[in-house]
Amino acid sequence: MQTIIDDIAAQMALVPNKGTVASYIPQLASVNPDQFAISIALTNGEVYHAGCAHTLFSIQSVSKVFTLTLALGKLGERVWQRVGREPSGDPFNSIVQLEHEHGKPRNPFINAGAIAIADAIMQGHQPKEALAEIIQFVRFLANDDSIAIDEKVARSELETGDRNASLAHFMASFGHFKNPVDAVLGTYFHHCSIAMNTQQLATAGLFLANNGINPHTGYAVVSPNRAKRINSLMLMCGHYDGSGEFAFRVGLPGKSGVGGGILVIAPGKASIAVWSPGLDAIGNSKLGTHALEILAQKTGWSIFGE
Ligand code: GLN
Repeated sequence: MQTIIDDIAAQMALVPNKGTVASYIPQLASVNPDQFAISIALTNGEVYHAGCAHTLFSIQSVSKVFTLTLALGKLGERVWQRVGREPSGDPFNSIVQLEHEHGKPRNPFINAGAIAIADAIMQGHQPKEALAEIIQFVRFLANDDSIAIDEKVARSELETGDRNASLAHFMASFGHFKNPVDAVLGTYFHHCSIAMNTQQLATAGLFLANNGINPHTGYAVVSPNRAKRINSLMLMCGHYDGSGEFAFRVGLPGKSGVGGGILVIAPGKASIAVWSPGLDAIGNSKLGTHALEILAQKTGWSIFGE
């Protein structure tokens, strides 16, 4: 495993076009695109790293996996009254579908869906309390109390968040929200601003690779059935309108973020986190996807066969 990922990291260093870093906020625009990290946490407890696996980055939409898990724990099946579970085929921040579908987002991983999930998690709590719960949950999953929110990123998200605010207000106009729109947006922007490294992220995802149980801590986070369902949503919806292409190339459930991180689950085998800040046109990490494609080929881990 170490040889495989060392080779992948060396190969990635030679790729001339590393994609384009997100430019909508200065904290992401200023990240050096020449960085690559991969961490693999196996279900047997072993962990492997290559590249800058201890460099913190903004997990952005990868956080939506954790907030969905938390919402399912709180609301159970009622979550599906708030969001659907179909791929959208549209960009992550698209607004068109929402009107046709009466303000109910297609899935929990597009922005509208994750904002609706933030509202569901809050359940009348102050944003601060909801956020504390989210960050505690992520720390619990990663078994690492040092994980925190990057407040500068959160502030920039808020300042540039007109599109997300539009999505939220549009949904609220259907009477779907239980909390004030600004409070919900505050929760959403902050959970997108959690900073993690690939080592922490791979560990945090491990419960999804191991029937709901984190093998490092022994804690049952979700039932095996729920882990399976979260994985299926990641496969179908985790890369927005690039989800089909990702399934075609990598063949594993994954969730990307505009910070350049991707969390990928090889069920029964491993949780994998990659990070490289340069993005493709859809907003998914260019080298991250490339690296995962090679990894899936070399390990035979694709859920669709070798
Ligand atoms: N914070 C980003 C946004 O809401 C997250 C998007 C993403 O990572 N794809 O626009």
